[in-house]
Amino acid sequence: MSRTAKAAAVILSRRRGEARTPRVNVILSAAKNPCICLLLALSMPFAAATAARAQAPTGLISGQSILTLTKQFLAAAPKRYNGSSGHAAAEKFIKDHFKPEAAKGNFETDQFTANTPAGQQTMRNFIVKFPGKRDGAIVLVTHYETNYPLRNINFVGANDGACTTALLIAIGEYFRAHPPQGYGVWLVFDDGEEAVKDWNYQGQVDHTYGTRHLAAKWDAEGTLKRVKALLVADMIGDKDLDIFEDMQSTGWLRSIFRQAAINTRHTENVFKKQTDEQDDHLPFIERGVPALDVIDPDYGPLDPKTGDAAYHHTAKDTIDKISAQSLQTSADLFLETIRLINQQR
Ligand code: ZN
Repeated sequence: MSRTAKAAAVILSRRRGEARTPRVNVILSAAKNPCICLLLALSMPFAAATAARAQAPTGLISGQSILTLTKQFLAAAPKRYNGSSGHAAAEKFIKDHFKPEAAKGNFETDQFTANTPAGQQTMRNFIVKFPGKRDGAIVLVTHYETNYPLRNINFVGANDGACTTALLIAIGEYFRAHPPQGYGVWLVFDDGEEAVKDWNYQGQVDHTYGTRHLAAKWDAEGTLKRVKALLVADMIGDKDLDIFEDMQSTGWLRSIFRQAAINTRHTENVFKKQTDEQDDHLPFIERGVPALDVIDPDYGPLDPKTGDAAYHHTAKDTIDKISAQSLQTSADLFLETIRLINQQR
């Protein structure tokens, strides 16, 4: 990721280790009172019917399988900065997982040259399309590269880039087996989200190279108006998953995501805090595309020296900091958000 304007203040206000109230305990303690017990029995069929309407299936994509895929991606391409052999390995890893789509002409490589503070760099976005039955597409986005300025430390970005690459690959495998019945689903694996020198290097925009390029390209081609919604996945494998509400994101998509959290029973992981992110959604929002940044910027304890989350952009961003459970939650939320967008739009 991504530059968080308010992250430090927000993180400071966060309380860690808040106890979760097990729902079953509430019911059990109520059941000690026979009147409440009777009320519960009478209301159960209605409650069950309401719950059935509100609840969405979870676990359609296994969090464990996403974690395994993340490990495989990190083994193949631990450091993925521009120009490195790891970057090439990351590209191959993504391509290899979408051979069936490539055979159908639904895999595109979007290569371009970026003018960066470190000189010209060749970058590549990858776009995978799963056609639907309605005209238009819901686009999911993650960056897959690691930071060029961090090339000399052991930075592998397990949470920052790797796990969301695995998440989108897994979502792609799901839609390969279950083709979209509504809007098409397009996956974008973008390059150059991270700064090459510094996020705002001497007043120059030094970030989101891939998405700025793609947004301009799709705008010129007329593709952008087919995009009904765009969802960015960033840093959402964190064991302590705490997806912030990004206030720069489109309002109706934030509402849908909140509803998706209710339906999948993941409200404890969603929108407890707010933030203003500069991330891959902004180049699309600036061109009028509804977009949502799904991000947990609170990654590790606050480092008093840097004012940043301690694992963010450090050698501590490793596989042990992310979990199958969080990846499962993120997958549940994305699938349900896609279902709700189709239902409501
Ligand atoms: Zn990052």
